[in-house]
Amino acid sequence: MTAFLFVAKPETEYSKVRAGTRSDWSCSAKAKLGDKAFIYITGGTGITAEWIIESTPRKEGQYYRCDVRFLREISPPVTIGELKALAPKWAPVKQNLRGHHAVLIPSEVYDRICSVRPTSLDTEINELDQNVYDSRALSKSERAKHLQTTTPKPERIQTVQSVFRRNPHVIAEVLERAGGKCERCKEPAPFIKKSSGEPYLEVHHIIRLADDGDDMVENAVALCPNCHRHEHYA
Ligand SMILES: [Zn+2]
Repeated sequence: MTAFLFVAKPETEYSKVRAGTRSDWSCSAKAKLGDKAFIYITGGTGITAEWIIESTPRKEGQYYRCDVRFLREISPPVTIGELKALAPKWAPVKQNLRGHHAVLIPSEVYDRICSVRPTSLDTEINELDQNVYDSRALSKSERAKHLQTTTPKPERIQTVQSVFRRNPHVIAEVLERAGGKCERCKEPAPFIKKSSGEPYLEVHHIIRLADDGDDMVENAVALCPNCHRHEHYA
């Protein structure tokens, strides 16, 4: 994977940067399918988004153009001042990115930018939901075009995630209370866990830990996978 910085003028509409699944953008002739691009908005804004390149560049007049897909918003934007601190020796940054349209980002600079604006798992998941929704709106033939041109190997992303260290006694107590039956639909657990020989149920918090719920027996229920999904999505 190679990363580029696409430099755009301040009047570039945000909707164009956030564009749904595909848009035409002038890019470097060297860009390849699966490469990344940060969008840098001049005039004091900075890097506001990251894209993935979804086609090989085609020449149109004096420019090259490629199809891109929005990956994530970079918030707050990475300003020129921050870029100078991250990559003081990188020539385009020394020149305040003046006169550039698309420049190659050295991999160590790309990593440094990602380290100050990490991808969050939630963002990825929300984007996937949104992108699936967008794809459902396409016709079968439009979707077939995407399926033909997308890369077969999924991109690997690094995420920074904080998780709660859950109390095992709460889980054990709730499983015992449930007695092998889902506490919502009252049906028996769908299968027996190979590792423990116990009925498979998932212990779910009624008020999420993320919403300041307590990791206590009173705030937890044992659910079958269907009911667990129902609680999260219905
Ligand atoms: Zn159930």
